[in-house]
Amino acid sequence: MFLAPKKNMDHICEHCGELIVGNAYRVTSEDKGITLLDMVVCSLCFMEAKRLRLHTEEINLRSKQASARNRGSHGFRLGI
Ligand SMILES: [Zn+2]
Repeated sequence: MFLAPKKNMDHICEHCGELIVGNAYRVTSEDKGITLLDMVVCSLCFMEAKRLRLHTEEINLRSKQASARNRGSHGFRLGI
């Protein structure tokens, strides 16, 4: 069946359309609080975005270790 698009851990670069292997990055651009750009890109496009001085951040791809969440109750809090 090919009806449901796969939406698990695979990321497709929204800039060049390649499957992202390894780290994925998010590129955003805002102007006066309005989001002009918000896309997930591969590392190459990430570097290009950096060159263009867009705001970039690394996306932590969820690995298969969901159990780590239950253990994170101490030592990890939002610092003030
Ligand atoms: Zn790309």
